[in-house]
Amino acid sequence: MRYYLLCNRCGNTEALSLNNCLEWDEINCSECGDFLDTCGHHADLIAPSYRHQMFNRSKNLIIKMAYERSQAGVYRHDSSTYQ
Ligand SMILES: [Zn+2]
Repeated sequence: MRYYLLCNRCGNTEALSLNNCLEWDEINCSECGDFLDTCGHHADLIAPSYRHQMFNRSKNLIIKMAYERSQAGVYRHDSSTYQ
């Protein structure tokens, strides 16, 4: 399987692992063969976790609420933040 990972040793950005790799199988640089990551760790990094999704939804909701309140004049007393 092919990945786009930066190799700190040679600067190459293409890495390879076994097809159908298991969590503990290595991802290595396609140029110099240096170990870059394991398949399981890399999958965890690129998959959006439930915790991150909930964090982003909460953050977006708070920003939206703050914007709507500022439009309604609720936070007019804090002129440095909402103008
Ligand atoms: Zn390399």
